[in-house]
Amino acid sequence: MIPILDLKRQYNQIGKEVEKEVVEVLRSGSYILGKHNKELETEIAQYIGVKHAVALNSGTDALHLALRALDIGEGDEVITTAFTFVATTEAIGIVGAKPVFVDIDSDTFNIAVEKIENAITPKTKAIIPVHLYGQPADMKVIMDIAKRYDLFVIEDCCQAIGAKLDGKMVGSFGDVGCFSFFPTKNLGAMGDGGLLTTNSQAIKDRVIALRNHGGAVRYYHDEIGVNSRLDEVQAAILRVKFKHIDEWNKKRRTNAYRYNELFANCADVQTPQELDKTDCVYHQYTVKIPNRDEVHKMLQEAGVGAMIYYPVPLHLQKVHEYLGVKEGALPITEENTKLVISLPMFPELTAEEQKTVADTLISCIKKSKNKINA
Ligand SMILES: *Cc1c(COP(=O)(O)O)cnc(C)c1O
Repeated sequence: MIPILDLKRQYNQIGKEVEKEVVEVLRSGSYILGKHNKELETEIAQYIGVKHAVALNSGTDALHLALRALDIGEGDEVITTAFTFVATTEAIGIVGAKPVFVDIDSDTFNIAVEKIENAITPKTKAIIPVHLYGQPADMKVIMDIAKRYDLFVIEDCCQAIGAKLDGKMVGSFGDVGCFSFFPTKNLGAMGDGGLLTTNSQAIKDRVIALRNHGGAVRYYHDEIGVNSRLDEVQAAILRVKFKHIDEWNKKRRTNAYRYNELFANCADVQTPQELDKTDCVYHQYTVKIPNRDEVHKMLQEAGVGAMIYYPVPLHLQKVHEYLGVKEGALPITEENTKLVISLPMFPELTAEEQKTVADTLISCIKKSKNKINA
């Protein structure tokens, strides 16, 4: 069995250090907003190349509180993609704003930048590009549009910590960058966690208040906030893991390119395309194949872990029925939803395992074709 992700292998590398740090936190008696939170914020802000970072309880909260901090809410529209995890639009819904979907680029799975301007109305307040699967969206064009139309940009970097475009980290282009430390992400906690990056002192101050019941001073509350702090145990764990992020992302990239080679002579497997001048961090290695659902079943039976991210595009989810966006409205998104499959991808994956994954996938595709032709 080759799993799509195996966190136990990572734990073998860092477990001892994690356990030492966690025990220290447990013994310290300081569990919320302590020194590890502060240090993690400083370290990540520096790494991303922004002035501020605010640690939070999840990536979803990072998106939600970014919108709150920019005063986006009832009556406002936010442009984003339907080819992402639901948290992107959930955050828009939580603040009472309306998600407006733009189709994706078929090569990169990210928002089709040439279609953004068509979706802008007088109600549009922001664009949320998602750096899906660890591949940066085309931020140069997006920032240019945002400037011309006076829109905010909130980057959903939940799958892309460490990814770069033109040598610049994602999360440093827009007004806000949103990160998730969900355990399966490239930098994962051992529980939930998230963080937001910004160059704006005002956004930082507002989010620091919002995450702690809407007040900067204890027991003085200026507005309705939430409880969204990163606990100290998770912050300590994340600091241990953060030291390895570049090494881990590099290994993911190596593994991705190894897969590309393994599929080089197989016309049925469409391997991921990168934009120019990007450092992708391959949160997922996602290919397009024929007879996807049939092949997915066969892979499972053959002991190869694979997942569909995501089986239903967001505009066709029940939660978004009220928007009235019908099937056919986002043809590239809908088409790709039926073709994509993500293969095992993590830093510790071996070359031997990758060979097995590739051979199995190629033979399953052949079998599925024969079955259909029979
Ligand atoms: C994981 C993820 C989120 C949400 O992060 P959580 O920490 O799970 O709340 C948001 N957007 C994308 C694209 C994600 O992959």
